[in-house]
Formats: sequence, structure tokens, C-alpha cells
Amino acid sequence: MNQTDRDTVIFWFRRDLRLHDNIGLYHALKENNNVLPVFIFDKEILDELEDEQDMRVNFIYKQVIHLKEALENLGSSLLMYHGNPIKFFEALEVAGVYTNHDYEPYAIKRDNQIQALLNEKNIPFKTYKDQVIFEKNEILKEDGEPYTVFTPYSRKWLKKLDSSHQEPYLIQSFYRNFKKIQPVRTLSLSEIGFKAGQYDYPSKQISGKIIEQYETNRDFPALQGTSRLSVHLRFGTISIREAVKEARKYSQKWLSELIWREFYMMILWHFPKVVTSSFNSKYDQLEWRNNEKEFEAWCNGMTGYPIVDAGMRELNATGFMHNRVRMITASFLTKHLLIDWRWGEAYFAKKLLDFELSSNNGGWQWAAGCGCDAAPYFRIFNPYIQTQKFDPKSKYIKKWVPEFQEIQYPPPIVDHQFARNRALETFDALRKEK
Ligand code: FAD
Repeated sequence: MNQTDRDTVIFWFRRDLRLHDNIGLYHALKENNNVLPVFIFDKEILDELEDEQDMRVNFIYKQVIHLKEALENLGSSLLMYHGNPIKFFEALEVAGVYTNHDYEPYAIKRDNQIQALLNEKNIPFKTYKDQVIFEKNEILKEDGEPYTVFTPYSRKWLKKLDSSHQEPYLIQSFYRNFKKIQPVRTLSLSEIGFKAGQYDYPSKQISGKIIEQYETNRDFPALQGTSRLSVHLRFGTISIREAVKEARKYSQKWLSELIWREFYMMILWHFPKVVTSSFNSKYDQLEWRNNEKEFEAWCNGMTGYPIVDAGMRELNATGFMHNRVRMITASFLTKHLLIDWRWGEAYFAKKLLDFELSSNNGGWQWAAGCGCDAAPYFRIFNPYIQTQKFDPKSKYIKKWVPEFQEIQYPPPIVDHQFARNRALETFDALRKEK
């Protein structure tokens, strides 16, 4: 297809890489014929990535190819474009553009620009809520203000939820409305500046067995006790409605985690300043030590604290880290080493396959004690007690730090009691400041 075709309607895939239960796609197909999907490999984002075998780019690429094949089996295709989305839309002359909402500041700005650009050309730009059950202003306090504490937010969220929110949007009966065209050219990974890596990605099957046992097993990193669906929720290879449906069947606790995801997205949407500043502005005054050598030891899993090192090595090797260990490593960096949460956040952002700006930022600010609904500043995880409780046989530690009892393993980078007192004094001093 060329980009000038007033009979064609574009559906723009972004973080919703699936054909089934995709709300924007559902509306595009229901309201039009000749719907042609597109995926844009955004140069603005890709050029920031350092690793030419980037695990996320490989993941996205694989999903895009799946989508293209599925669409070609339906007699249509998927347009793959590498470049700046604004440029793509500048050159576009079509009957309409459909897509799903994205709540990150970069995306909001980009979409506003595209909206203005398409308005000028009289091309309708229709956008839909898809990646969450409730978005933006849908869950507010009685006074109309956004919640900044999780528990009452979650109560309201649950109260508002009914079975209609978990009904899938069935699009099969509209498949005939995909534009019939010959397969369009497939861009190779190297054409977008990357190379293929050998990665094992977590399955997108929602395991009822794991979710049923979730409350019992979720905190033990040596177990397969959590769903591992984060990357699929991130890129929309599963739909939130199917996840919520399973959660309601099997585990209230798991449902609560899905609500945390929406809570942090809502926070980012209402308070975009959190991307660069502490939610609680007072903490922007904190005097971090920011010792670069210590940061490097933390990144490399060489702090001499086995549970911290195991987590960092798991992250470096696989792109995943168990939630309990994310909390321990984040607390260790910000409290024990007094290193700015933004350093840790940026490192996680670089390494996590499931990197989600809102959850990562929320998790880091929570651990550092400067976020909304944060762990209080005096809550300093004791890595030894955490190990006794959640990895009592050191199974997780042995997997990632097999030498932890050997002579070559480094001594603790800082004494626990000393570091705890130092953190308390630092945070306390700030608290007392007017
Ligand atoms: P499960 O325990 O099976 O939970 C199901 C889903 O609920 C997850 O896939 C995720 O989408 C959501 N979820 C679970 N816990 C949280 C939470 N605390 N906050 C928000 N959503 C949650 N999660 C990300 O998806 N991306 C991140 O970049 C990210 N960074 C984090 C950084 C820190 C410092 C901390 C403490 C947590 C972070 N989390 C992040 C939240 C959580 O650790 C992961 O979602 C979880 O470990 C993913 O594993 P899972 O899919 O097996 O989760």
C-alpha cells in the first residue's frame, strides 16, 4: 500500500500486540472495511538502546512477525515502518486512524501532535482504553481528586468492577473488514538496527495452578510462584480482561497485583513529574552518597550480600527479577548504600524485559520511601532476615551466587547495622527540616 489511500483505515498497534480482545482494533473493524494494521518501530525510542541484541526489541519483533503472519493468513498484511511516527503520519492520506491509549508522557505528547496533524488533514483519529480496566479519571476520590494511597483506590476499583469489564471484545466476525492486499515487505531486524539474540521468553499461558497457589508461593524466589506474565501485560500479548477474569476465578491477591499496575499507571498519568522527581518533593532534598564504585558493585551482583547479588545476577542474566528480590535490591541501593533511586530505576529500565515506566518508577519510589503510598522511610529491609524468611535453604542464592560461601566471594560492602543507622539518620534529618 502506499500511504495515500483515502479508502483505507489504519489500525496502529503499539502496546497491544494481539488480534484478539483488542478494543481499538475491534472498533476499527466494526466501523470500517479496508482496515490495514501498522506497526512503527519508533526510531526515537530505539536509538536510545545500547544493546544491539536488545531482548525487548527481539520480543517485540517476534510478536510483530506473528501478527503479520496471522494477518496474511486472513488475506491482509501488516505495514512495518521504521522511523519517526510523526513523519509516518505526515505522509499519510487515509480515511481514518485507530489506536489504543498509552499513558506515558512521551506517548501523550506524541499522540497530541499526531491528533493535531491528522485534524488538519481531516483524518479522524480515534483512540480507546484497552490496556487497563480503569484509566485516567475513572477511579477518583469523592472530592474528584486522584487517589495517592493504594488501599482506598483498590477498594473503589473493586467496587466499580463488574462482569462487563472482563468480557472479551470478539473480532472474528469482522475479520472480513481487514484490507485485502498482497503481503507487504517484511523489515528485517538488521534494518531497524538490531540483531537476533537467543532468548527464552516466559509463556503467555495464564496458569490457573500458579494463580491458585499465588498467595502461598508468591514471596519465594526459588519457586515458580508468580505468573511471569509481566512482559505480556506490558506489550499486550495478553489482554487485561482475560487476566482479570482468571484472577477473579482463582485469587484475590493476584487481582490486587493487577490493580497495583493500574494504580501506578494512574499515578503517572496524573503526576508525570514522578518521572524525574520524588512524588513527595521533600525527598528531592535528600543528600544521596552516590558512590560510583558501590553502584557498580550493586549492578554486577558483587555487594557481598548474597540475596542482593542473586537478584542482580538474575536480572543481568535473564531480564527478570522476582518481585520480593526487586524490593530487597531496591531497598539496599537506596537505604544501605544511599544511592539515588533514579540510578537504580534507570538500571532496571535498561535491563528488565518487563520494564514498565509506571510500575518501575512506582516500585523504586516505594522502596526509597519517597513515593505515594511508600514504605515508611524507617522501613529498611534486613537482607539477612529476608533471606531467612523467603529463601531459607538458600536455593535461590545458590542458583545465582554459587560461590557465596567461598573465599573469593566479596565481604559485605557495608556493615548492615552501620548502614541502617546511617540511613535512619539521613532520612530523619530531612524529615525534621522545615
Ligand atoms: P505476578 O506476581 O504474577 O503479578 C501479576 C502482574 O501484576 C504482573 O505481571 C504485573 O503486571 C502486575 N504487578 C505485580 N506486582 C506489581 C507491582 N508491585 N506494581 C505494579 N504491577 C504489579 N513490574 C513491571 O511490570 N515492570 C517493571 O518495570 C517493574 N519494576 C519494578 C521495580 C521495583 C523496584 C519493584 C519493587 C517492582 C517492580 N515491578 C515492575 C512490579 C513487580 O515486581 C513485577 O510486576 C513482577 O515481579 C512481575 O512478575 P510476574 O509477572 O510473575 O508478577
